[in-house]
Amino acid sequence: MHADILVLPGDGIGPEVTAAAVAVLRTVAARYGHRFSFTEKLIGGAAIDASGEPLPPDTLAAASNADAILLGAVGGPKWSDPKAQVRPEQGLLALRKALGLYANLRPVKPHAAALGASPIKPHLLQGVDLVVVRELTGGIYFGQKQRSADVASDLCEYSVGEIRRVVRHACRLALQRSGRVTSVDKANVLETSRLWREVATQVARDEFPDVTLEHQLVDSMAMHLLARPRAFDVIVTENMFGDILTDEASMLAGSLGLLPSASLGSSGALTHCPIDSACAAGRPAMDGRAGVSASPHSGAKDGGERVMGLYEPIHGSAPDIAGQGIANPYATILSAALLLRHSLGLEAEARCIEQAVSAALDAGHLTADLAAGGPAIGTQAATAAVIAQLQ
Ligand code: ATP
Ligand code: MG
Repeated sequence: MHADILVLPGDGIGPEVTAAAVAVLRTVAARYGHRFSFTEKLIGGAAIDASGEPLPPDTLAAASNADAILLGAVGGPKWSDPKAQVRPEQGLLALRKALGLYANLRPVKPHAAALGASPIKPHLLQGVDLVVVRELTGGIYFGQKQRSADVASDLCEYSVGEIRRVVRHACRLALQRSGRVTSVDKANVLETSRLWREVATQVARDEFPDVTLEHQLVDSMAMHLLARPRAFDVIVTENMFGDILTDEASMLAGSLGLLPSASLGSSGALTHCPIDSACAAGRPAMDGRAGVSASPHSGAKDGGERVMGLYEPIHGSAPDIAGQGIANPYATILSAALLLRHSLGLEAEARCIEQAVSAALDAGHLTADLAAGGPAIGTQAATAAVIAQLQ
């Protein structure tokens, strides 16, 4: 297969971890006879430095044309002046919005070799295997922001359509797993959460009779996630709650440096939702059309509907360790596996990468964040360990 992969290294440790993932993808391509071409573009602080804009037009154009996007991270103290007009994070938010990447999948499955790095008791972690589906293009991160001398506000808005499509995504995912969905909100206080709960209940009841839906308030969910993480399978929640809960969930896995993510969506408008029809296969689509049966990966080059995918570790640019060659590359390498699975439909190759990372961890190739004070290896050695497993 031939695929055009856009690489957006970004800032901080972004260039180090994306280089690791690209090296792994090249190895996979050679082993399986695929042709992956890699184009690099600027985003975030690096783009502000070069052009004054966090998402330059040529980056957006390349993103729209790519088969899949691999991203490192954006931001850092250099660009965090509160008075700055442009910020690195705006570039990533604008990219997610422009590409319609509304469903952010964050799988959490603690690896035995990394349990020592987790502050949670190991017996609570045995068998944990959950996925957080975080809504990514709505909510308070995108609402209008205002600031006067002594008052600031951020508007949180959600529409029925925005909630419905991401809850559908979570329910479809649950059908491939244990059939359980936990929807997280703050419905005792927030109006957006009351709407969220109503819509989630309706979608599950009317469209997914085989899915068991439960609701949790975000504050108690933060506790349950650590106290009884095995109780959860698919968790669906709005943008900010998902951001916070997944940094918390990373502690189940041992480190932020282990968690990959896939941001999926459609380049069409809200009412035209290929990812719904692509995955629903026969269920009513958002606008009432019958869903069409199609594979979940990008079909653009075959004339099918276009499902966009951006893949990145859940961690940020980690400015405190940038440039030292010690960042954990596993989360970005695992994000490359998700890229192969969701955007290119290469399931065997994706599994191969996941098994290689597992094997590298089993063999004790631990970066500093995982080594719990013991001997640690750097980014390049960890990458080489994965590549050695693939060869
Ligand atoms: P963002 O707002 O962009 O999500 P953040 O504020 O959550 O960023 P991170 O950049 O993710 O912060 O860093 C949080 C901590 O985790 C830092 O101490 C950082 O060094 C560490 N960290 C993050 N990613 C990695 C990694 N890949 N390897 C090792 N340590 C990491
Ligand atoms: Mg973060």
